[in-house]
Amino acid sequence: MSEPLVRLEDVKVDFSVRKGLFGSESIHAVDGVTLDIAAGEVVAVVGESGSGKTTLGRAALGLVRVTDGHVHFDNTEISALPRKAQKAFRRRTAAVFQDPFASIDPFMKAYDSVAEPLVIHGIGNERERRERVLQALHDVRLRPAPEIADKYPDLLSGGQRQRLSIARALVMQPQFIVADEPVSMVDASSRAELLALLRELQERFNIAFLYITHDIATARHFAQRIVVMYLGCVVEMGQAADIVRSPLHPYTQALIASVPEPDPANRLKQRPSLPGEPPNPVNAPSGCSFHPRCAAFMAGRCELKTPVLREVEPDHYVACYLHETDEP
Ligand code: SF4
Repeated sequence: MSEPLVRLEDVKVDFSVRKGLFGSESIHAVDGVTLDIAAGEVVAVVGESGSGKTTLGRAALGLVRVTDGHVHFDNTEISALPRKAQKAFRRRTAAVFQDPFASIDPFMKAYDSVAEPLVIHGIGNERERRERVLQALHDVRLRPAPEIADKYPDLLSGGQRQRLSIARALVMQPQFIVADEPVSMVDASSRAELLALLRELQERFNIAFLYITHDIATARHFAQRIVVMYLGCVVEMGQAADIVRSPLHPYTQALIASVPEPDPANRLKQRPSLPGEPPNPVNAPSGCSFHPRCAAFMAGRCELKTPVLREVEPDHYVACYLHETDEP
């Protein structure tokens, strides 16, 4: 593989949480994640809430402070960037968030929302900005663009607002976008259209994506590689087709089993979905943190020591004692 555009190297992000009236303690929101993303590649990070996937995305954009490890963009460590280079980094990256109602200012017309990043970064004169904004609106199929540009967001549907968020990201012509659950708050019909649009834009402009989702089905549809996270750690990683066709980690297997079976005739054959809730990271289970929910739990092994992420097939990594031949 050529040099990655984005390289996360043993990234750790700790947060402080309140404990009792006066105390606090540290939780590992992201706990030693290593991941490369090539230019134009789509990598999906999949997991339930609390898995650390959103924090990982924010770390990749330099939006949270990394406690340990390194984040590189285009061979440069982003935490070490001088102020001017930080600005240049921001121009080359963008984010699309889950909630288009929260991420778009309701008091700004669509035109101003999309133009705002250009204004902040001092890009172009008024005529050039107008051209770029209208082109971005057109590219995300908010058409006719001049008409949409003049509207306030409350006149747009949820799907259209999310397209507006995407146009706002796209107008900067980024090389890397973190899309955090970008289709989870829109209706089912808009969801398929938005995913198709993201795919089209990604291919057309060769944009690398870190696609964050709880839904492994959309991850398979959109991404070339899938990274499965549980309680801050990567538990499985590989080519999207391999992960979905032959998942190795019991957590990935359960995530796949939780995907609703569209054919009623097959519903009874579906494997049971994920039992219980993700544990509170303040009291993370010992050993393999998935062990309290794991149907394949091996007493005397799984709860004692954390399994290491290993390559068990070409480009297919898993952290589970079921796939480890060495003694722990
Ligand atoms: Fe289950 Fe043990 Fe594998 Fe963890 S290491 S996923 S508890 S079998």
